[in-house]
Amino acid sequence: MIERHPELIVRPLDISDVVTALRFAREADLPVAVRGGGHGVAGHCIGDGSLVVDLRLMREVVVDPESRTATCGGGALWEDLDTPGQRHGLATPGGTFGDTGVAGLTLGGGIGHLTPSYGLTLDNLLGATVVTADGNVLTASENENAELFWALRGGGGNFGIVVEFKFQLHPVGLLLGGHLDYRLEDASIVLPVWRDLMADAPDSLASFAQIYRDGVTGEGLVNASIAWVGDLDDGRDAIRELTDGLSPVTNGVRPMYYSELQDLYGRMPFGLRNYWSGRFLGELPDELLALTSEQFVESGTSGGVLFEPLHGAPTRVASAATAFAGREARWNATFLGVWTEQEDDERQIETARAYSRSLEPWKIGGGYLNYATEASADGLETEFGAQRFERLRIVKRQYDPSNVFRFNHNIAPD
Ligand SMILES: Cc1cc2nc3c(=O)[nH]c(=O)nc-3n(C[C@H](O)[C@H](O)[C@H](O)COP(=O)(O)OP(=O)(O)OC[C@H]3O[C@@H](n4cnc5c(N)ncnc54)[C@H](O)[C@@H]3O)c2cc1C
Repeated sequence: MIERHPELIVRPLDISDVVTALRFAREADLPVAVRGGGHGVAGHCIGDGSLVVDLRLMREVVVDPESRTATCGGGALWEDLDTPGQRHGLATPGGTFGDTGVAGLTLGGGIGHLTPSYGLTLDNLLGATVVTADGNVLTASENENAELFWALRGGGGNFGIVVEFKFQLHPVGLLLGGHLDYRLEDASIVLPVWRDLMADAPDSLASFAQIYRDGVTGEGLVNASIAWVGDLDDGRDAIRELTDGLSPVTNGVRPMYYSELQDLYGRMPFGLRNYWSGRFLGELPDELLALTSEQFVESGTSGGVLFEPLHGAPTRVASAATAFAGREARWNATFLGVWTEQEDDERQIETARAYSRSLEPWKIGGGYLNYATEASADGLETEFGAQRFERLRIVKRQYDPSNVFRFNHNIAPD
């Protein structure tokens, strides 16, 4: 779906190559697109008439088990970071697909299996090395360039190229993890039970529910991921209503290491057609779950509707502490349209938009921009909220007044 034509693609090996690329872009008056993991369904990592800085060769990871920290290059994928961390029994909350980029995911939020225990990915960011539009190299942390550090944590790739991230790691060993699958026809029974469980879930339990139909086979199911970070027997008890109270067709929940859990989804093949749209929500009432089951089963669309609870550690971070816009939300709901045929584009896109509109009565603020193919029609001011958006704009004016970095959910300087 994404066909764009850059002027030039640069594949830097180190920070000085990134500086050279940005100085050249400035001389040649080219806007700059940045490719991290290349996973964003909006296709922002490539832009017409741009100079693309493709960071795929900058993926080095260094873990320090003493300080429980890790640094990684701006092009690292989650599998690059998870594996060396696990050698020391350490991890930081990351995405659920190993081939998603650390960069894009972190700069927009980061919801994963460890989020209730240890926060959003961006809550674990200790510092970043950034090359700005004029080719300067800056460090951003709570103590240095603090306003830039605030903006990086939620404002996306608007402010510069992050060439290095430094994360806090946590001890994560054997956990109870895996998936439960239920019949699509049982969605209206399964989803309320899952919602009730997750509404009061402790920090140790992460679970995401998805009602899903495969675009190729046409087969549908309801799926709940499970990650219990704690005593294994306590975990089995905590999810009893999902395993014994309901009738899963598959119960793949068992003791496993975090790295195994991170590999469970396999790979989402490139080349699929995608349109994703959703909202942060304050509640997940029966009416909304019934509407979801009904619309999804009837629509025949492929892809899924994903529900993510936002409880535990992220809720204990003050809303103004980072630029992330979903801090007051209790849930995140997203229509993930994924299909194969161009002729289905219009129907799939309209279904995703219509579902997103149907969430309006329960929305809190905007949507999760990391998932959004497009910002809502009301624009980024609504997505971020007026106050946060103005603060982001002030940072944008300071670090990128000419809007060199415009291939993103763009916070225009003016
Ligand atoms: C299959 C799949 C699974 C996903 N799972 C999760 C999940 O579990 N949790 C979650 O929170 N999100 C998830 N996401 C969403 C993910 O957070 C976003 O797609 C994110 O943008 C991916 O980052 P990337 O670096 O791979 O993407 P890219 O497309 O390379 O980049 C996305 C944006 O970030 C900018 N950018 C990239 N690298 C840098 C950099 N080094 N410096 C500055 N700007 C940069 C790009 O210019 C672009 O605007 C998933 C997406 C997919 C497709």
